Amino acid sequence: MSVMEVSHRSKAFVACAANAEQSLRNLLGIPDNYRVLFLQGGATGQFSFVPMNITQPGDKVAFLHTGQWSNKAIKFAKAQDLNVEVLADEAESKYTTVPAAGSYTVPQDAAYLHYTPNETIGGVEFDYIPDTGQVPLVADMSSTIVSRPLDVSRYGIIYAGAQKNLGPSGVVVVIVRDDLIGNARSNTPGVFDYAAQAAADSMLNTPPTFGVYMLGQVLAWIERTGGLDAMAKRNQAKAAALYAAIDGSGFYANPVAVNARSWMNVPFTLANPELDPVFLKEAEAAGLTNLKGHRSVGGMRASIYNAMPQAGVDALIAFMTEFANRNG
Ligand code: PMP
Repeated sequence: MSVMEVSHRSKAFVACAANAEQSLRNLLGIPDNYRVLFLQGGATGQFSFVPMNITQPGDKVAFLHTGQWSNKAIKFAKAQDLNVEVLADEAESKYTTVPAAGSYTVPQDAAYLHYTPNETIGGVEFDYIPDTGQVPLVADMSSTIVSRPLDVSRYGIIYAGAQKNLGPSGVVVVIVRDDLIGNARSNTPGVFDYAAQAAADSMLNTPPTFGVYMLGQVLAWIERTGGLDAMAKRNQAKAAALYAAIDGSGFYANPVAVNARSWMNVPFTLANPELDPVFLKEAEAAGLTNLKGHRSVGGMRASIYNAMPQAGVDALIAFMTEFANRNG
């Protein structure tokens, strides 16, 4: 029987989930006082379940607003009857920057500070971990987790939809420090209550078994290919090559401040936006797909997650150079 057929209570599947968790613990060096949960409801679910698990109505919570995903997290938190303080909002730069460390003060009576280390749509990434003092730091790492090593001990909660760097959609990974477990609001549904799920090893109900299995396979692949140090080197090299090609072209442009450029999502525009459909069509004919920018921003976006090899980036650069020569 395959993983899709066996019971989630079977020894085989329980071992499979335990292996996936152990691989994640090994790769990220997750300290013993953190629990790893494999849940459902996506990263969007966590926009609501984080506040339900670690605040009471009326509590103060703090956010950094750096683009569309942090904006959504803010909106969902506001629906939870909280006193939401946005400490920094990068609207002035049109969300092409991150707030400088030290340019905002974290209120020490906040229940947590939430930020989005990598804004998937804008291609904007923090080049530092915010210092929050005693306030738990909460991070939506959906589009950057396991792209490089990470100091988990700096965080209260890390969550990430699996579908970029971890495996198929349908699983959301939550890494939560022990002291933040067990304080959920009384109306929190059991399947979204960290304490209930931690007590049940994330199997309060049927988990997304195939997704968890695949997650384990992906993590094993990262381990086999040199772990997160090697992954970081590959990702940095891919991103550096693509940004250099864009900056040196005189034809393409990336709007993001150099210190805030994402290793994972690289948006770029063409000198003449009327050429956008031509670019996309010719790129697709050359086997280069999924380059259309998010519908809200237009232009192009190359998402170069862990699974994208250097050869894929090299092929994109070769195509872009040739296209610019013909159309520039
Ligand atoms: N946060 C970030 C940073 C994302 O990139 C995404 C998905 N693109 C989400 C949240 C939403 O994730 P999900 O669809 O799993 O709810």
